[in-house]
Amino acid sequence: MTEDRSLDDFAEAAAGDGDAARTGSDAEPDPVDPDGAKPDSGDLDGAADADPAVATSTWHADGAACDRCGERVHRRWREADAFVCADCASW
Ligand SMILES: [Zn+2]
Repeated sequence: MTEDRSLDDFAEAAAGDGDAARTGSDAEPDPVDPDGAKPDSGDLDGAADADPAVATSTWHADGAACDRCGERVHRRWREADAFVCADCASW
């Protein structure tokens, strides 16, 4: 009687392994796509680091006239296409 039970258990175990192998092979192709998308987010981080250091002010050793009020100043700030003194700059 004991031998009959062991045979039944062996048969069930073999069938179970067959099902597990099928589901495993089906699940493998899916994870490939998410991994491929990750490098794109890394490029975005690199662009943030490349933030351009825009020169917002210029220094003139001999002084330069403000484009708005005409006052002669050593340092002017960029306002759109004009360079203005500290009083005319919109902070
Ligand atoms: Zn000015």
